[in-house]
Amino acid sequence: MKNKNFKRLTNEEALDLIQNTSLLDLSLMASERKQEIHPEKITTFVVDRNINYTNICWVDCKFCAFYRHAKDDDAYVLTHKDIDQKIDELLEIGGTQILFQGGVHPKLKIEWYEELVDHIHTKYPQVTIHGFSSIEIDFIAKLSKISVEEVLIRLKNKGLSSIPGAGAEILNDKVRDIIAPKKMDTKEWLEVHRLAHLNDIKSTATMMFGTIETDKQIIEHWEKIRELQDETGGFRAFIMWSFQSAHTKLAEELYIPPQSSNRYLRLLAVARLYLDNFQNIQSSWVTQGSYIGQMALKFGANDLGSTMMEENVVSAAGATNRMNQNEMIKLIKDIGENPAKRDTAYNILEKYYE
Ligand code: SF4
Repeated sequence: MKNKNFKRLTNEEALDLIQNTSLLDLSLMASERKQEIHPEKITTFVVDRNINYTNICWVDCKFCAFYRHAKDDDAYVLTHKDIDQKIDELLEIGGTQILFQGGVHPKLKIEWYEELVDHIHTKYPQVTIHGFSSIEIDFIAKLSKISVEEVLIRLKNKGLSSIPGAGAEILNDKVRDIIAPKKMDTKEWLEVHRLAHLNDIKSTATMMFGTIETDKQIIEHWEKIRELQDETGGFRAFIMWSFQSAHTKLAEELYIPPQSSNRYLRLLAVARLYLDNFQNIQSSWVTQGSYIGQMALKFGANDLGSTMMEENVVSAAGATNRMNQNEMIKLIKDIGENPAKRDTAYNILEKYYE
């Protein structure tokens, strides 16, 4: 991914880019870098569905509007039948992947998850299960009194393919202690991903910005995932989005101004430049809207993520943008790129250009 003139950005240089470089220059620099890595000007997307198998969670992150406690009227755990119906609907529109995540249920142990993954994989072997964030995996291990590595291996043996990067937020414990005090710390998040990679389970890295973090803490976050990527090469993509505040405790406790589109694009461009060992960077059109999502393709993103047949987590906090496959193709073409449908591993499945 590196050309001979390429020089890795230092943290100081990244900070200078965030704080002192014009948006236009950032766009040009990120686009040049993207062009080096993706010279065919292909923008990909995946047709998938988020399935949140439960909304019951004990972690109580202050930025989250999705979770419920078991006693709440609208708390749920999906049955196999519910899940099958959702996958059937996904297959009808040509979907290939489920992003399968829940809250962190306080009582479900490894056997429950093994049965669930086994059921899905046996019935739908053609569907890729991209599921279980690091905090779910870590807690299954604690509750089941087994190691994180054993959880990963046992779920992989039943059909788990890769794990999403959710739960990273900002990988700085001072920030985490305020926005999600019960959540796993930075070291633990990184360790789950390291162990996944070492066991041949790829993952993605994410970042949620726009709460209380500083620019330096954002760069610290990037530094940690860049280092792990150097070590394992196991991250397939980086995805970042801004805090969505509606119905969250954090927004009740603190005044947090909404993040501008300008800020999103600025950070995305610097991420493309700093994360020099990441092949793929997704645009978060779900939180930014379809037009800024499209603009992100000029700020380093090479992938529009998912058509997102169903989304429950950021929509609970106010982000209700929607886009279907045809709209995505149109937006990608409109900005001068070549649209293509991909699978979870970023293999091209179908091209929508000559
Ligand atoms: S972000 Fe995840 S871990 Fe945190 S409260 Fe929401 S569902 Fe639970």
